Amino acid sequence: MANPRDPEVAKIVYQRVLNKLVCRKCGALNPPGAKKCRRCKSKNLRPKRLLAGIKKG
Ligand SMILES: [Zn+2]
Repeated sequence: MANPRDPEVAKIVYQRVLNKLVCRKCGALNPPGAKKCRRCKSKNLRPKRLLAGIKKG
């Protein structure tokens, strides 16, 4: 049973979900090793590091 409150599980989820590249141009999600956007072919990619959605307290 995966407990989402478990720090170890959260770490795995973090790595799986956030280990992606987001296109700055069109916002599409790309795989971690992508050199360019799969949708618009832009090379303007940024790593996805969102802390939004994780609310403390
Ligand atoms: Zn794009």
